[in-house]
Amino acid sequence: MFVARRYISFFIITCIAITLPFLRINDTHLFLLSFDKLELHLFFTRFDMQELYLMPFVFIILFLFIFFITTLGGRIWCGWACPQTLFRVVYRDLLCTKILGIYKSTKNKQTSGENVFLKLVSIIIWTAISALIASNFMWYFIPPEDFFNYIKNPAEHKLLIGILTFITTWLVFDIVYLKEKFCVYICPYARIQSTMFDTDTIQVIYDEKRGGKIYNANEKLPRHKPSSDALCTNCEACVKICPTHIDIRKGMQLDCINCLDCVDACTQVMAKFNQPPLISWTSNKALITNTKVKYARFRTIAYCIVLFIAISALFLMSGKKEHMLLNINRTTQLYSVTKSNEVENYYVFLFQNTDKKEHSYYFEVLDSNISIVSPTTPIVIKPGAKQRVVVTLKSHSLNLNDTKDTPINIKVNAFATDEKEKINVKRDTIFIYPKKL
Ligand code: SF4
Ligand code: SF4
Repeated sequence: MFVARRYISFFIITCIAITLPFLRINDTHLFLLSFDKLELHLFFTRFDMQELYLMPFVFIILFLFIFFITTLGGRIWCGWACPQTLFRVVYRDLLCTKILGIYKSTKNKQTSGENVFLKLVSIIIWTAISALIASNFMWYFIPPEDFFNYIKNPAEHKLLIGILTFITTWLVFDIVYLKEKFCVYICPYARIQSTMFDTDTIQVIYDEKRGGKIYNANEKLPRHKPSSDALCTNCEACVKICPTHIDIRKGMQLDCINCLDCVDACTQVMAKFNQPPLISWTSNKALITNTKVKYARFRTIAYCIVLFIAISALFLMSGKKEHMLLNINRTTQLYSVTKSNEVENYYVFLFQNTDKKEHSYYFEVLDSNISIVSPTTPIVIKPGAKQRVVVTLKSHSLNLNDTKDTPINIKVNAFATDEKEKINVKRDTIFIYPKKL
């Protein structure tokens, strides 16, 4: 039965979702996108927001994975991993049906509960669960160790409390009132996923050859008597159990969330006749040709290769983390010429220590004509901190051009004085020589 396997999938996903924000080594998380501290933590490496060149890789991998999984397994995400489906199963099947008994059976999802008191109890319990889910969601953006400190002082963290309240309210509205209407009318993935299907994509399909044609091509009304040799008993177990209230015997529909409940229902019915189910999780091609589903095909292999390249690039890039950042800007004053005929140029260097320990930073100009006037000593910066430094460079006037200023490209090599080989960055900037006249 698919239902048991889906519950195992939901359980594993829930465990991962809850534990992942707590996985950290020395204050660096496995994954954290901290808006609070403007940091990205990936594979226990901390990146500053200025290092977000990694984010496109994360998004490319995410989209490629969605394309790949949809081409391979259709709406497998919807039925087996989507939080919306998971929350609906917890609320409708576990809380309302199994625990509170508002609905008689999980096999009939077309009924609505009559007991107003129990319904109210279910909403109160779900509101508490929603608050936990909202907190769990926030841990991906605010590390749990900070989150628990923040909520002790709600008055000082009104934005956090506001976001938590909004997500909780939305979850109650969505799961209790919107239900599967969210999947049918709002979810954008439901709209686009069919464009990624091919004839080998696995879907939930009713076998019309064995079961009989239930619906006329142009009519929506079921013919209650399929032909005499048709195996479908018209028991409608598959219709009653469907959370999106559709009849899969009409053919593949946008509303189907791939939960496979109808397959389980028909399996039980057909078992009584020693027959395999009339609804199965297979591809159109496999059903028509009576063969096995072809998983390894050009499109799926191509997606795998591109995904492998993108993931390798992400690993490679995350291993090349810079332990310091440096932005160089020129001040508004272009230059000045001293009495001894030296040209001075002025800059603002923004150093940032992205390492886990304190360092002192200094720099050199890779141009023998140019020397540093100030600062004269290294700058000490704490881990994660930034510091602006006004820098003056000087050179003897070269009188390169009689009528206009001459900018010369120069290279600055900045480094941590204690670990120069490991922590250093090179930046390009310009040094301007004044015109002669
Ligand atoms: S048609 Fe079947 S698989 Fe699709 S949503 Fe309904 S019960 Fe689930
Ligand atoms: S559960 Fe099977 S036998 Fe019953 S109506 Fe659905 S397809 Fe026909």
